[in-house]
Amino acid sequence: MLRWAEIYLNRLKNNYNSLKKFTGRKKIIAVVKANAYGHGSVPVSLFLERETDVDMFAVATIDEGKELREGGVKSPILVMSNPLIEGVDEVKELNLTPVVFDFESLEIAVKNGIGFHLKVDTGMGRLGFLPYQWESVLEKLDFSLLKGVMSHFADSDTDVEFTRYQYNMFIPLIKKVLSVKKVAVHIDNSGAVPLSLDGLLTHSRIGLALYGSKPYPDFPVPVEQVMEVKSKVIDVKTLPPDWGVSYGRTYITRKSEKIAVVAFGYADGFIRSLSNNWQVKINGCFAPVIGRICMDMTVVSVERIDTKVGDEVVITDRALTFDKMAEKAGTISYEIMCDISPRVKRIFF
Ligand code: PLP
Repeated sequence: MLRWAEIYLNRLKNNYNSLKKFTGRKKIIAVVKANAYGHGSVPVSLFLERETDVDMFAVATIDEGKELREGGVKSPILVMSNPLIEGVDEVKELNLTPVVFDFESLEIAVKNGIGFHLKVDTGMGRLGFLPYQWESVLEKLDFSLLKGVMSHFADSDTDVEFTRYQYNMFIPLIKKVLSVKKVAVHIDNSGAVPLSLDGLLTHSRIGLALYGSKPYPDFPVPVEQVMEVKSKVIDVKTLPPDWGVSYGRTYITRKSEKIAVVAFGYADGFIRSLSNNWQVKINGCFAPVIGRICMDMTVVSVERIDTKVGDEVVITDRALTFDKMAEKAGTISYEIMCDISPRVKRIFF
């Protein structure tokens, strides 16, 4: 095997418990969409179901919900961004809980007797009924089918003030709904966990931090990266001076230089903007990426590293984190995790 991802489920459990402690009395909705942010949605969900008091799972699509049900997941599954018209029969058959965010889906849910969570927009500007629509939604609502009311924060990782503003906008609607029926209420994602928003909220809907990535650098909840991505050295050689490395020859050796070719490229999820801008670890030593990351391979400098073909290469681990990678690549750790491709075999510990 040349490329694989080690998923440490004990860390997932520790992260879950740390986050749960911070959220206080709230129940947890584990967000396992996009294959559990690349970690493997079925094994991750079955593990959380067995080892924690997780209350619910959240996915993006009906297909993702189907995968969980077929994998044996029994807990409620919230489908967050799939209009009901796209699969009402499957939703019923698989006992999925849709998030209703438009009038068409609301009508379909009512007509088919499907229990749902209602989503409102408090400032995300994406899915959800806007404040001017809330009155008419409440009028049309079949409360016997309503299981939850939710919204989503736009900026909980960088703007506490706006996050509290969104929460405050949400409160009157929650109160109205709760005056009729006791349902699940949730808005906070990973970034909002330290705000300890409480009172009316019953659940926290958490993805990123469960997997051990921090929404912002001084995130106070202790979490540890769950995934470690590894590869192998497939060639070692010494290049002559003034020799270009990889496409575009963006790195030229100054003197003769020992290099290793690593079996990991952008088709595996190695973000190309980390070309000349990341260090992997080989035999405990840092080896800088030189030249452009290719589809299946990357060249690293191993001038002072004792290495041979077959040696293990750490692309990312608890020290060389996705968070650091994201900062260097000018993106977010979510994207890097989700991009670890299916050809990188997931191994669970
Ligand atoms: N809720 C919704 C609607 C989301 O889209 C996401 C993530 O994208 C989450 C919750 C979880 O957010 P986080 O991964 O930041 O915890």
